[in-house]
Amino acid sequence: MSRYGMVIDTTKCVGCKDCVVACKTENNVPEGYNRDWIVQDVNGKFPDLTMEIRSERCNHCTTAPCVSCCPTGASHIHELGGVVLVTNNECIGCKACIASCPYDARFIHPDGYADKCTFCIHRVEKGLDPACVSVCPTHCMTFGDLNDANSQVSKLLNSRKHHSLMPEAGTEPNIFYLM
Ligand code: SF4
Ligand code: SF4
Repeated sequence: MSRYGMVIDTTKCVGCKDCVVACKTENNVPEGYNRDWIVQDVNGKFPDLTMEIRSERCNHCTTAPCVSCCPTGASHIHELGGVVLVTNNECIGCKACIASCPYDARFIHPDGYADKCTFCIHRVEKGLDPACVSVCPTHCMTFGDLNDANSQVSKLLNSRKHHSLMPEAGTEPNIFYLM
C-alpha cells in the first residue's frame, strides 16, 4: 500500500510564497484562509544564527488525531496513499479535529465544514503533482510514495539529513524537511 508524503528541501526554499498562491488558486481557498503557509524559523544565539524557511501544510499524519476524534467519520484516511481528507457534507463543524491537530493545519470553511490541504488528491489521481509542488521555482518540494524504496522521496530521505515537525506528538507526520 502506498503512503504519500512530501520531502521539502529547506536549503532551497526562498520563501517566495508561490506555493501558497498556487494552492489558493487551485483549491479555491476563500479569502482570509490558507491551506499552506511559510514559516521562517530562526535558531541559535547571535551572532551564530541560522534560519530555516519552510512551506508547511497538513502533515497527512499516519496516526491522525483529527481522524480518530471526528464524531461523524467526515475526517478519514483515504485509500489512495493514506491521504487525510474531510467529506464536506458529513462534517458538522464541531471543530474537534481543529482542537486535536498539533499543527494548526485546519480551519472551518465559511460554508461550515473543516477544511485543509488534500495533497491536491484530484491532481494526484490524474498523475500530477500537488499544485504547490508543481509551481515551486526552486523545485524544493518532492511528492511521492514513502513506501516505495525507489521513489524520489525515499531516495532523498535516505541520502539527506532531515526532520519532521513535532515528532513527539506521536502523529507520525508524512512531511519531511531536508536540512
Ligand atoms: S497535520 Fe493535523 S489535520 Fe493534518 S493529519 Fe495531522 S493532525 Fe490531522
Ligand atoms: S469539524 Fe467536521 S471533520 Fe472536524 S471533527 Fe467535527 S465533524 Fe469531524
